[in-house]
Amino acid sequence: MSDLLRVAGPVGSCIAAFAALAVTILVWRKSRLTARLEIVRGLHAELISEAAANDRHTLGSLHWQNREINPDGTERGEVMCAYFAMLWRFERLHAGRKVLLEGVNGRRDVALKMLDEQVYTHVAEYVCTFPVIKDKLTESNRDDTVFDGAYVKTFDQLRTSLAESFDDPEKKARLGAHTNNTEKCNCKCHEVSEKPPLPAQRLFGASA
Ligand SMILES: [Zn+2]
Ligand SMILES: [Zn+2]
Repeated sequence: MSDLLRVAGPVGSCIAAFAALAVTILVWRKSRLTARLEIVRGLHAELISEAAANDRHTLGSLHWQNREINPDGTERGEVMCAYFAMLWRFERLHAGRKVLLEGVNGRRDVALKMLDEQVYTHVAEYVCTFPVIKDKLTESNRDDTVFDGAYVKTFDQLRTSLAESFDDPEKKARLGAHTNNTEKCNCKCHEVSEKPPLPAQRLFGASA
């Protein structure tokens, strides 16, 4: 009996220690997931902020109406600002998503799955928007080059990494590179005939 008690004591302590460790790991995992979901929330919030919605409207109007940019007035400058602001938003998304991926050794956990589902439509939309808008910016003033190389490269990395995360062939296709070839681009904007620019806007208060 005394032998049994001598063994049972340490075994009981071991079980208690393992139970405490298991609880600690569970709590740590839960708080880590909460922190990761908070990062996801912040990254997605940036894409649906009021400023992002305004920039999307500026770029989306030109994209979906297939209209030229008026080189006179303020429109070209506004489009340029919106174009870079959106590229920089995706740059931040890419950096944040990379940190989340590295935190779980490239495995897609609940947080990454949630992020990818939330940002998929945004990224897919800009696969066509960026090159189409850049063409319009270039066409409207060939003397003012659009220097966007590094940011476009980052967007391409985001697009490629996101495409690798999905099994759905349609999603993969929509995240495929834009070739400017209407047969290969999945965006319907190429079916809209090109329209002339709107008249230049007068500055508020300027005389006629
Ligand atoms: Zn396209
Ligand atoms: Zn398009």
